[in-house]
Amino acid sequence: MADRVLVATERTHEQKLDQLAEVAVRVGLGLKSGQELLMTASVDALPLARRITEHAYRAGASLVTTLLNDDEAALMRYRFAPDSSFDHAAKWLYDGMGAAFKSGAARLAITGANPTLLSNEDPDKVGRANRAVSKAYRPALELITRHEINWTIVASATPAWAAAMFPEDQPEVALRKLWDAIFETSRINVQDPVNAWKAHDAGLHKRAARLNEKRYAALQYRSPGTDFRLGLADDHLWMGGGTTAGNGLYCIPNLPTEEVFTTPHKDRAEGTITATKPLSHQGTMIEGIQVRFEKGRIVDARATRGQEVLQKLIDTDEGARRLGEVALVPHSSPIAHSGLVFLNTLFDENAASHIALGQAYTSCLRDGDKLTPEELAAKGANDSLIHVDWMIGSGKLDIDGITASNQAEPLMRQGEWV
Ligand code: ZN
Ligand code: ZN
Repeated sequence: MADRVLVATERTHEQKLDQLAEVAVRVGLGLKSGQELLMTASVDALPLARRITEHAYRAGASLVTTLLNDDEAALMRYRFAPDSSFDHAAKWLYDGMGAAFKSGAARLAITGANPTLLSNEDPDKVGRANRAVSKAYRPALELITRHEINWTIVASATPAWAAAMFPEDQPEVALRKLWDAIFETSRINVQDPVNAWKAHDAGLHKRAARLNEKRYAALQYRSPGTDFRLGLADDHLWMGGGTTAGNGLYCIPNLPTEEVFTTPHKDRAEGTITATKPLSHQGTMIEGIQVRFEKGRIVDARATRGQEVLQKLIDTDEGARRLGEVALVPHSSPIAHSGLVFLNTLFDENAASHIALGQAYTSCLRDGDKLTPEELAAKGANDSLIHVDWMIGSGKLDIDGITASNQAEPLMRQGEWV
């Protein structure tokens, strides 16, 4: 529709930023009047953080608290801190975040990190520091992975992220290109972003419902470099779009989101799988990932770049070598359509079908939130300190659903829903 395009392109950057903030608060978080909000953001994302703060107070937030981080300060640790620093995390801070969630606060994260910030740092130090944070953050993060509170992640362009994505361009041009891509893929360039999001959310729910009717026992993947069969957890549930959190509030945890996803069986992955996009893991790039699974466990892992980081990642704990998520995304999603590699999981995971190493989402199992750790494990849900998504989808990926009676049904062909 011509008028739609005109309205969208006539908006100023400030107006679009304001609409992104409104979508984040009203659609992403579903913030309730009287609720506290805990936000994390980079100092480079302050303009968006401030718009979100305004919309949160307009929606009746009782208090907005923002924790800011700074890339330069993060690098100084690697340059000047004693070696023992890298086994240390601010446990008091993560305990405090957990206390905030338990007392009813909503959680919003603004993503926009420099994807290559730690590329030149000692991988051993990077691995140890990440592990210390994972451990300290685990109790608070569990409230998020169990969807006990309403939460969301939204993106802000930052100069370092833009430079990594568009290295050929002048800094201002790169930043503008990244903002354009964020507004487009976050569905802000439409007449009524809030209602567009509600319609998109309904579509994802319909897709998940169809897969739940099918009750596939496994998925079979075939593409260049991939011949892989992945069993699904017993009593798995496909999910997509928004969800009602344990506190009764409806939220859409990722803006953008294009995926339907569920919990695979931690002991039932067999075969070889090749990543189709580079993985940016906590400031390090891992490229050309190819792994082989036997009985659910990675027995061979290679990467053309960042092999050492990949090895450390899967050595984090026993569950780090097994899968905790399987997600399906059509190749025609707006993010794939942009043709861009964002070097940021929020976007790249929504550009392609993916799997995740590590922790399973218990909400993807029937009554999963009521099961003990032993019962969850018996159904095949994986347990780990990590949850790292990596992309295996492309325009060349075929997927079959395998029924309980071992019949193959075409599910995706050349990356699109059948
Ligand atoms: Zn996912
Ligand atoms: Zn994931």
